Amino acid sequence: MRKIEIFDSTLRDGEQSPGFSMNLAEKLSMARMLRSLNVDVIEAGFAACSQGDYACVKRIADEIKDVTVASLCRCVESDCDIAWNALRGAEKPLLNVFIATSDLHISQKLHSTREEVLKTVARVVSYAASLCPEVEFSAEDATRSDRDFLLKVLKTALSSGAKILNIADTVGYIQPEEIRELVTFLKEGLSGGPEYKLSVHCHNDLGLATANTLAAALAGADRVDVTVNGIGERAGNASLEETVMALKTRKDHYGCYTDVNTKLIVPACRKLVMLTGVKVQANKAIVGKNAFAHESGIHVHGMMADRRTYEIIDPEDIGLAESKIVMGKHSGRHALEERLAVLGFTSLTKEQVDELFEKFKLVAEAKKVVSDKDIEALVRAELLDFTGEYRLDKYIINSGNVLSNTCNIRIVKSDGTGFDGFATGEGPIDAAYNAINDALKTDAKLLDYMIESVTGGTDAQGAVSVKISIDDKVVKGYGVSVNIFEASIAAYLNALNNK
Ligand SMILES: [Zn+2]
Repeated sequence: MRKIEIFDSTLRDGEQSPGFSMNLAEKLSMARMLRSLNVDVIEAGFAACSQGDYACVKRIADEIKDVTVASLCRCVESDCDIAWNALRGAEKPLLNVFIATSDLHISQKLHSTREEVLKTVARVVSYAASLCPEVEFSAEDATRSDRDFLLKVLKTALSSGAKILNIADTVGYIQPEEIRELVTFLKEGLSGGPEYKLSVHCHNDLGLATANTLAAALAGADRVDVTVNGIGERAGNASLEETVMALKTRKDHYGCYTDVNTKLIVPACRKLVMLTGVKVQANKAIVGKNAFAHESGIHVHGMMADRRTYEIIDPEDIGLAESKIVMGKHSGRHALEERLAVLGFTSLTKEQVDELFEKFKLVAEAKKVVSDKDIEALVRAELLDFTGEYRLDKYIINSGNVLSNTCNIRIVKSDGTGFDGFATGEGPIDAAYNAINDALKTDAKLLDYMIESVTGGTDAQGAVSVKISIDDKVVKGYGVSVNIFEASIAAYLNALNNK
């Protein structure tokens, strides 16, 4: 059995796609999850892209150990310098240097020539290798590049000090049979030279990212770029859960394995959904809501006789098994802590657990049974709240169809200062948000509001996600409570706290 290394780009390719941006605390929290999943490489960001990205790469490199931490760099020395500064503290740093190799990109985007690209690769990869013990070279748009030229570029990168050679199907163009041939061609061309690892980076524009990734693995690729839930530019990247579970479920076919702890796949998927507020489609392979749901009579009948009739993956193997433990108002702090560990929340501080336990007791008072989903919703609210400067103290909302909607509110700042606000509105939420703006003297505008019930039942917690614009910035917020007005207020304050 051959090992396939997992290079996770959730925090880089995934995070740079619309709607998936995360702040430092969120990225750090996701990086811890990836570390627990036991991926081989975490690409933490694109350090030279912005100060925010730099800070995230640095923090992850400094804090997350026992795993390679990578930063993307354009093929220029200054990008390598910035990325190297961010990565210095990492136990195993990796500079991922990329340049386009297709004629289309070289002429239209880089306004350069093949000869120039070769010279640049030799110069910058050597420079990167003089800084960092491990350098990966990525050929952007490799799958639409002239094969002989691509091979020449990879040879140049290799002789300049790159240890990992990555070919990117940047626009999701290639077909599985073609990538198999390409990998075979490149491996033949590179044989006899210095040692290297070959890796692939596939996009999903034609829905083939995972298929192409697996085809490359079959042809001998050593490493694959993936993201949790397949997020990434445009239609996304190859999904971690699909790639890992295909290799595992069909090891007879691939003869390969990964080191991923598959029991944390569902917790990782849920965590990303929590942090970004973007759900996965119900029919998504492995982690979709329906991936293990059976309704038709024939299927249910078969499943009852033998699970294997309609399921090829044991749900427990991906961490899907629903808790049989009933959590309620008699469950103590210890029971909550154990449940948090099972759900993959292992890095909460004592203070965070204390606060969670207080909130847990309130939910348990209001509901008889507290489900895993309730706990996850509370954790999400807690994780997003720890920079909180403003907190809700008290409010009164009047609403009905025979009176106007009004809200009186008192917000407290972390230093103890109180702010009172009053406003009317088209509805109770509008009144509440206007009252917050009145109290804090802001002109924040609500761009997007989404409410969902965490579990079924009329006593369910309401989870509210908002996007607001303030000072030319768009920030998101999240709030959860058994009272939907309070959840709505918490989400708005959370967004203001995140600005
Ligand atoms: Zn990409």
